[in-house]
Amino acid sequence: MKFARFTIDGRTCIGVVVGDSVIELSKVILQAPLTIKEVIARGAELRNRIADALQTATGALPLSAVRLEAPIPDPQKYLAIGMNYADHVEEARKGGVTMPKVQVWFNKQVSCITGPFDPVHSPRVCEQLDYEAELGVVIGKRCRHVSVAAAQDVIGGYFVCNDVTARDWQFASPTFTLGKSFDTHGPTGPWIVTPDEIPDPQSLEMRLFVNNDLRQKQTTAQMIYSIYEQIAHLTKVMTLEPGDLLATGTCAGVGIARGPDGLLKVGDVVRVEIDGIGYIENTIVAEPM
Ligand code: MG
Repeated sequence: MKFARFTIDGRTCIGVVVGDSVIELSKVILQAPLTIKEVIARGAELRNRIADALQTATGALPLSAVRLEAPIPDPQKYLAIGMNYADHVEEARKGGVTMPKVQVWFNKQVSCITGPFDPVHSPRVCEQLDYEAELGVVIGKRCRHVSVAAAQDVIGGYFVCNDVTARDWQFASPTFTLGKSFDTHGPTGPWIVTPDEIPDPQSLEMRLFVNNDLRQKQTTAQMIYSIYEQIAHLTKVMTLEPGDLLATGTCAGVGIARGPDGLLKVGDVVRVEIDGIGYIENTIVAEPM
């Protein structure tokens, strides 16, 4: 099942995506949750109720008539792993970055989150704006000390993300937080796909295009640390909550590895697509004054 957050006629709500349409959740079931976070936290029981009610629901809107928004605009955490695809580790090594021996995690501050088709700022103070295609994971259950074997059970869904990065800020500091957290540098969406539609998240192909030029193409089978290993590692340290977002790493082909012409500039259109989920597409704009 796919859950979207969208705006129509100045009102923002959540709904279920069916084909090329979306139906507001409150038109499908009584006492519908108001957030996708809650939908996910309520799991399969609620999904089954929605699936039954969809048989007779009316009032679907064409997706083209609504503005899709970030599905979960206010997670408690948005964490991202670095250096998680061998081909990306190799291109980074050529750029002088050494391969870490443990999982490397950083925050994208939640204030960077933006919608799947929203503009992304080229910040006034950034000289090296870059893209990273990634599979996003939403946590579905409050959890701590989750084993690799049990990690599948705490996943609430998947989405497409672009881990937009200010490379100059990333490399200027021992931690990545500032370089990864500029406003608008967290486009997510286009919706959340629940795990019943993604039987194997480690076999999805993702592609990134800049102005229709294919820059990244890899399957999630090539992750160094699987999604389940990532959740096991993180929950040794912290409690994950329903709605928390994880970006699971990018593959080779990032802009910085292609030289100065590989980086993003105002007017570029960046599209990230993942099989079985959908795509997000963002235009780079000058940061407004
Ligand atoms: Mg990344």
